[in-house]
Amino acid sequence: MSPQPVGPDGVDMNVDVVVVGFGAAGAAAAITAHDGGASVVLLDKNPEHQHTPSTRMSGGMVMTATDGAAAARYLDACASGMVPFDVSQAWAERATHLPWWFQEVIGGLDMVPSAGAEHPDFEGAEAIVAVQPGGVGERLAAAAGAGPRLFEGLSAAVLRRRIPILWGTAGDRLTQDNHGRITGLTASSNGRSVSVGARHAVVLACGGYEFDEELKRDHLRTYPVHFYGNPNNTGDGVRMAQQAGASLWHMNQMIGRAIGHFDLDGRPVNFIIGIDPPGYVICDRAGHRFANEHHQAQLRHDFYYELLAYDPATNSQPRVPCYWFFDESRRQAGPLTYTHFGAVAVGLYDWSEDNSAEINRGWIASGDSIAEAGEAAGMSPTAAIRAAATVAD
Ligand SMILES: Cc1cc2nc3c(=O)[nH]c(=O)nc-3n(C[C@H](O)[C@H](O)[C@H](O)COP(=O)(O)OP(=O)(O)OC[C@H]3O[C@@H](n4cnc5c(N)ncnc54)[C@H](O)[C@@H]3O)c2cc1C
Repeated sequence: MSPQPVGPDGVDMNVDVVVVGFGAAGAAAAITAHDGGASVVLLDKNPEHQHTPSTRMSGGMVMTATDGAAAARYLDACASGMVPFDVSQAWAERATHLPWWFQEVIGGLDMVPSAGAEHPDFEGAEAIVAVQPGGVGERLAAAAGAGPRLFEGLSAAVLRRRIPILWGTAGDRLTQDNHGRITGLTASSNGRSVSVGARHAVVLACGGYEFDEELKRDHLRTYPVHFYGNPNNTGDGVRMAQQAGASLWHMNQMIGRAIGHFDLDGRPVNFIIGIDPPGYVICDRAGHRFANEHHQAQLRHDFYYELLAYDPATNSQPRVPCYWFFDESRRQAGPLTYTHFGAVAVGLYDWSEDNSAEINRGWIASGDSIAEAGEAAGMSPTAAIRAAATVAD
């Protein structure tokens, strides 16, 4: 849908609720507002033919709960005091309704249990059930295509409701009246400024700031740090909310993993390193092993925290960057990243089966010895020799 011509008040269109960002959060907000009787418009910065929200890139696993009280205790244990208990309670309570929501509100998606709690020993863990579209059996195998399918299902539910979507339209500023009340927003579309009035609310569902260097440097505990979601998630919602007077919380609390960060014809493109099957060692800048790499192989959500170490003696972050060593048999075993989710699954890059294209691009360094490969990847000669000893151990 195209915005209507500018009216006498300078506003291109007026609706009850404007939703900025068409991923899972935006789809859920738009559907809920629509079903509650509101007129809604969705905006997304991506053009329709290049729509790669993180939701589409994901493994499609949705965490639900069978018992709200137990699930709240589990979340509270996971948060270790950093989230007020009533927030965990509210999340847990709503998570018990998710299976119903998928069936009755979204429809057309067969959400199947595929995993339990990530921390099965925590109190209340038995109440956590992760579901995936059409996923059966083993956790990672089940993820094949699940993110794209999840987004397809949410998207179909939005389209069925005829909720208009303004593609290639980036929200950039909230508008406010004299009392500070939010009245809509301005956005840019094809170099033109668009103004959208919101009678009731603007929902900022435009992802995180994983591709904004300034926000990452300001808020994270180490730098540089890279993530593997939608390249268009550049913290616009964070900035819009701040400009309107919002305060922020938990900006440096997140999950993440060891990833490969590369330049693709002048654009950053990031991949989760797929270190399963085994035969791997990850070393820090000095060539030392520092964590159980199996946790990365299992795609646990806490590996990121292993990467944050700070060394006061050298005032440095010795694990940024870190180096993944593998041998020729691993190279030949298949792509060094996952192809059924992440950048490859949504067509941002086509990773070669034997990794030769990525070696040719210079993304993967090689050598006849571990030390040679380490140096080729950017390690100092001393660190590369130490890495060789580490791998030999
Ligand atoms: C590879 C991968 C695997 C994952 N696996 C899982 C999993 O299995 N289970 C799980 O729970 N989580 C998983 N996650 C995390 C999960 O995908 C995200 O937390 C979730 O999808 C975020 O949804 P969202 O709607 O907030 O953001 P997104 O889905 O990224 O949508 C945000 C949208 O906002 C748009 N946007 C950005 N700026 C603007 C702007 N200024 N104006 C208009 N639009 C804008 C973007 O283009 C984008 O379409 C995974 C993430 C990745 C990358």
